[in-house]
Amino acid sequence: MDRITERIKDCLKDVPEYVAGKSIEEVKQKYRLNRVVKLASNENPYGASKKAIKAFREFGDFHIYPKTDFVELREKIAEYVEVNADRIVLGAGMDGVLENIFKMFLNAGDEVIISIPSFPYYHTLTKIHCAKDVQVNRGEDFTMNVDAVLDKTNEKTKIIIVCSPNNPTGNVESREDIKRLIEETDALVFIDEAYVEFSDNDLMDLVDYENIVVARTFSKAFALANLRIGYAVMHEDLRKEYMKVSTPFPLSTSAVNAAIAALDDLEYTKRCIKLIVEERERLMKELSKFFKVYPSQANFLFVKSGVKAKTIAEELMKRGVIVRDCSNFIGCDEYSLRISVGRKEDNDFLLEALDDLKAEGIL
Ligand code: PMP
Repeated sequence: MDRITERIKDCLKDVPEYVAGKSIEEVKQKYRLNRVVKLASNENPYGASKKAIKAFREFGDFHIYPKTDFVELREKIAEYVEVNADRIVLGAGMDGVLENIFKMFLNAGDEVIISIPSFPYYHTLTKIHCAKDVQVNRGEDFTMNVDAVLDKTNEKTKIIIVCSPNNPTGNVESREDIKRLIEETDALVFIDEAYVEFSDNDLMDLVDYENIVVARTFSKAFALANLRIGYAVMHEDLRKEYMKVSTPFPLSTSAVNAAIAALDDLEYTKRCIKLIVEERERLMKELSKFFKVYPSQANFLFVKSGVKAKTIAEELMKRGVIVRDCSNFIGCDEYSLRISVGRKEDNDFLLEALDDLKAEGIL
């Protein structure tokens, strides 16, 4: 008899399992360190709004299923992004939103165009749906090559990904380029604005086109990564289809209550953003002593040096700093490193560790 794993769909064979970076606790134990700073997952280092934490904790009816349509949260988001609540969907993180969109559009053999390097999960999801990830190189400054993307478009192209600011490179796309892309294709243009709050350029005003989805998350600026809340704005007709593919209860009431409270406490999030952006500019200058640092409109910096990213990441980890080695991102070389912007003291700790690497001749 065949092993049961032989019966799993063929296209899964190609899909790598998601490997998360090491946690603070793991690194503390492994290297017997008292202090470990994680600058690897682009989290908000100041933590969630106290009001959000309180709202989360106040709900205790865990035996009751959550609602399927969180009108109050959708209305609050609608106010925040200035669109009608009828056009907003929610998901278990932006990952959950992406999963639903891919479920809606992809048949086996379809194509998704991804400008590389970018967020690895796009490739994974494409493969899970037995579709092909068509990879297009970015330009020198990592902006998308819209002409090359349009060149690769054909009747099988169902989704074109735009990630702005882009993970891991931190650059944004221009409104004119993306407007042209939307106008010149029949495919769905999925705009990932996970990091938009750290940027001075957003693409939300393009959302009136029928073939676009603009997705965002509470995981970054709003500091609720652990609660898994993402959302997207789309045409009302698309929203109806989205509700068909969504799992029945993707979000917990506690998480939704926290997100509502976070939106009621926008001042807190704005303070975090201001501190992070100020630190980003300082860190950018300081890191230039060690690396080539690329301009960023996100809460992380993309850097390169002549030393392999794997070596730098390992050496920093031994000294209590976790950063992201991007050499396994499709489209990155082995010198690519991404560093999240932490609190001032965290960033100083990183800079001291880098001084140390330099003194020891590693950098
Ligand atoms: N898009 C991008 C570009 C990301 O970097 C991330 C998370 N790292 C996500 C989407 C998913 O975010 P979440 O599921 O936490 O909302």
